[in-house]
Amino acid sequence: MFLPSWVKTQLKEINKTQNYFKNRKLNTVCETLRCPNRSGCYQEPTATFMIMGNICTRDCKFCNAEKGKPEPLDTSEPERVAKAVQEMSLKYVVITSPTRDDLSDGGAEHFSETVREITKYNPHTLVEVLVPDFKGKRSSVEAVINSEISVFAHNIETVKKFYGTIRKADYDRSIDILRLAKEINPEIIVKSGFMLGLGESLKEVYETLKDLKSVKCDIVTIGQYLQPSKKALPVVEYIKPEVFDEIAAAAMDMGFKAVLSGPLVRSSTRAYEIYSAVRGKRYGKF
Ligand code: SF4
Repeated sequence: MFLPSWVKTQLKEINKTQNYFKNRKLNTVCETLRCPNRSGCYQEPTATFMIMGNICTRDCKFCNAEKGKPEPLDTSEPERVAKAVQEMSLKYVVITSPTRDDLSDGGAEHFSETVREITKYNPHTLVEVLVPDFKGKRSSVEAVINSEISVFAHNIETVKKFYGTIRKADYDRSIDILRLAKEINPEIIVKSGFMLGLGESLKEVYETLKDLKSVKCDIVTIGQYLQPSKKALPVVEYIKPEVFDEIAAAAMDMGFKAVLSGPLVRSSTRAYEIYSAVRGKRYGKF
């Protein structure tokens, strides 16, 4: 498959961590989406766990998650994740999931239980949650925020025109989830992310940034879409690194506290470092 030089990566020494997750029946986004940054992240004391299985009730055309009828929730999972965090001495953890429209609260209680178990076993570990849209339910957002997380993230994923077709969600609802988070707890750090290379225009990218900023989003990550499997949409365009820099500069001018923008950037890339910088008021492009 053709890949421009700036997205080619060498994955080194990831087997040990891969086996660790596999042996403990733990899902990670890192493996499910074959993230290009695994070599680096697996050296860090951070990881991104995918809870509630790996079957999604939605069918976004860019995503590698399995689509269909999910398995019932595994009530032992919160504690298993918490123990893995303890064994790996993780200082910062990202918890995410597929979308579970089959659950009345979208899985919010399972998220909260996982955060509580992590905090119980690892009082000094910080937790970022990257949640689905919970069908816009305020009670679900409240449940997750009240479980003492450090960062509330929900990815806008792409620009508005692709909602309904490529992205199986509601754009305004996704923006509103982020607004709700800040309304429920103004101190919470709010984060979102999206991909480039699906055929969006620069004007649409800036409109998306403006919408995120209008709901007080603090951190934004912007990366290149890479086709995760033959089933998924092909890449429309490989965006040059200098364009990522240009967008990052514009986002900082709009008032974001932190922007990470580059071809290999993913939602959880350098998450701990960026969280620490924003908490320390060291705002900037990373
Ligand atoms: S909702 Fe999320 S996990 Fe589900 S298909 Fe869309 S991007 Fe993938």
